[in-house]
Amino acid sequence: MSQTTTVPDLASIAAERGIKYFLISYTDLLGVQRAKLVPAAAIAGMQKNGAGFAGFAASFVLSPADPDLVAVPDASTLIQLPWKPEVGWLASDLKMHGEYIDQGPRNTLKRMVKRAADAGFSVKTGVECEFFLVTPDGKAVSDEHDNAAKCCYDASALMRRYEVIKEICDAMLDLGWEPYQNDHEDANGQFEMNWIFDDALITADRHVFFKFMARSIAEKHGLRATFMPKPFMNLTGSGCHAHISLWDGKTNVCYDANDKLGLSDKGYHFVGGLIHHADALCAFLNPVVNSYKRINAPRTVSGATWSPNSVTYSGDNRTHMVRVPGKGRFEMRLPDGAANPYLLQASLLAAGLNGIEQKIHPGEPLDINMYTEGHLVKDAKKLPLNLLDAMRALDADKGLRSVIGDGVVDPYLQLKQGEWDAHCSHLSEWERAVTLDC
Ligand code: ADP
Ligand code: MG
Ligand code: MG
Ligand code: MG
Ligand code: MG
Repeated sequence: MSQTTTVPDLASIAAERGIKYFLISYTDLLGVQRAKLVPAAAIAGMQKNGAGFAGFAASFVLSPADPDLVAVPDASTLIQLPWKPEVGWLASDLKMHGEYIDQGPRNTLKRMVKRAADAGFSVKTGVECEFFLVTPDGKAVSDEHDNAAKCCYDASALMRRYEVIKEICDAMLDLGWEPYQNDHEDANGQFEMNWIFDDALITADRHVFFKFMARSIAEKHGLRATFMPKPFMNLTGSGCHAHISLWDGKTNVCYDANDKLGLSDKGYHFVGGLIHHADALCAFLNPVVNSYKRINAPRTVSGATWSPNSVTYSGDNRTHMVRVPGKGRFEMRLPDGAANPYLLQASLLAAGLNGIEQKIHPGEPLDINMYTEGHLVKDAKKLPLNLLDAMRALDADKGLRSVIGDGVVDPYLQLKQGEWDAHCSHLSEWERAVTLDC
């Protein structure tokens, strides 16, 4: 990834490794992965000039009259699809009129990483992408025997999905991501696969690829992988916890051995930023209508939702929004499987950096079971109850806007408003049931 290394020549790599096609891909503002499949014979020109897209056709605030949105592949991200090695996947950066555009999610994360670098920090992150393996129609957990209330870490249910999990994990091993564990999670049909943390941009690219890979490999096995935050009302939802630490060379700047949580002032200020901007962050971290059925949720059949309901932090305690699982790092437990992988990290960084810049203190940590004793904490701020409240909070958050930029926030909110309006125009069975006899 270093700036000084020469850019790999994709045409030569294709010839050496037997790559026949390149998938030049990017995620749009709503996190959908878009791509063009380019034959190796045409990659030299595309590597230099990028692949052209009609931006209006994807989710951006652009018009059909706008010029091409150009996706310029980042050759350092090349991955031969483990399930189809003749195809080379590439993450790319979005340009228009020769300039990187604010609406490009990867551009935004790069900007936040640069802002951190200017302040003297490199950013290391890890994500935990929970997902369900469901039937192809998406209506039920794929394994009918996986129905215990306490199914977390269930060895038999895990092994009944061995072929899928193993194929994904083998791929991560071959790619050098250093995966270290796979488990059955807290909901029937739910799994988590963990690989080791790295630079924020590398983790975000891997996050995008992981979702693509899990879906593709599940499909190969006649199943469907979904990262939907709450696919089943009575079961624990799919989170995407994000772990963060900040570094100055090999020194962890969030670390203080003498502090009770092991955090330095900068560490506390970063957490302060996450706490201060939490409701606005929800618009990025919990970006769909369904997200709000995961957070603030009633108890699931397993006994706990494992997702936050209030804006609080703690030490190694999983009932709070921010957990400090080890000295010098924090886990944000708010994000879910629908978050755009780049905007997830960009928004967390923006909030945390704002906390450091403004020296925002997060208040005292709480060391209670938030699920059972949360009602005793009178001044704990609650999370937004729905997407519209989160969107309004983001719209009004001048501090967060000043860091992440209006050029991202405004078009993002415009698209989200469209999604909210579409939701509101949908007549639900529940409405009919409770209102028909009014
Ligand atoms: P848990 O389920 O206990 O929250 P996991 O092991 O599932 O934790 O995931 C932890 C994630 O945090 C992994 O991606 C791991 O590599 C990452 N991580 C560990 N230490 C750090 C650190 N110092 N900075 C950033 N990420 C970290
Ligand atoms: Mg055409
Ligand atoms: Mg985990
Ligand atoms: Mg988990
Ligand atoms: Mg976690």
